[in-house]
Amino acid sequence: MTKILKGKPVEDKITDESLEMIERLNKKDILPQICIIRIGKNPDDISYENSIVRYTKSLNVQVKHLTLESNISQEELIKEIDRINKDGDIGGVLMLRPFPKQIDDDMVRNYLAVEKDIDCMNTLSLAKLFEGDMSGFMPCTAKAVLEILLYNNIKLEGKNIVIINRSIVVGKPLAMMLLDENASVTICHSKSNELKAITRNADIVITAVGKANYLTEEYFSENSILIDVGMSLDEMGNLSGDIDFENVKENVKMITPVPGGVGRITTSILINQLLKAYINKL
Ligand code: NAP
Repeated sequence: MTKILKGKPVEDKITDESLEMIERLNKKDILPQICIIRIGKNPDDISYENSIVRYTKSLNVQVKHLTLESNISQEELIKEIDRINKDGDIGGVLMLRPFPKQIDDDMVRNYLAVEKDIDCMNTLSLAKLFEGDMSGFMPCTAKAVLEILLYNNIKLEGKNIVIINRSIVVGKPLAMMLLDENASVTICHSKSNELKAITRNADIVITAVGKANYLTEEYFSENSILIDVGMSLDEMGNLSGDIDFENVKENVKMITPVPGGVGRITTSILINQLLKAYINKL
């Protein structure tokens, strides 16, 4: 029978670890605070921001919202980041991206202080990860995938793992994290040939394409373990993953649902890394 890999128990485990850190910080009169920088009113950004607010409500964690106009200049944005870098009360920062066109992403994300970069967007934070040093902050979505695999005791060493995504937020850092677990990793993307043959032969497939129900039964085998990071709306307007869950779920070994899978874990990891930023300074 197929095992459904739910995000909730993984989130609960991470939250328990966070609660212990919060208690430790509160004993030292430290009230953890995250700053969320949002430019404009992108509904996906607002939805992520709201999920952070909901999650932190039950914890003793403050959220500072820095909401900026969509036509903000690069110079003004850098000034804001500089101010946040110097603000001793703020322990970690999440910058919601993609930025508007007038902002050079590669340049601006590197202004964020590495010690506050709890979503691992600064080149220096990423370089550490790519050099094989896993002790720093990790991109939260990639970490959420690793956490769901580890929580469910899924063996990674020696396994063939296919990631369908080559973005710097998901696919590339995740590949480094899985290599560190001694997996053999293949990264696929929109120009990959014979995707079906590649995914069918993999032990584990992790997908973050962003096309609802795109991957059907033929892409997988009865031994497939599937982690679906994709989040998009299907033609009925329902939140869906990349995998055609209803038709695939009976024919594979394990699968994450959407919603209720990886997405559920991401926010708990963000806050967990915020708390680690404070603990690192003790
Ligand atoms: P992205 O940068 O657009 O990446 C999409 C990737 O999918 C690219 O590497 C693209 O290839 C590949 N792709 C597109 N069409 C394909 C096809 N037909 N066959 C194979 N590969 C294909 O997007 P992203 O920001 O990484 O996000 C991807 C998805 O993950 C979205 O649904 C997003 O909502 C979701 N997401 C979820 C979370 C979470 O917490 N659960 C967090 C972040 C993102 P190319 O590189 O060749 O274009």
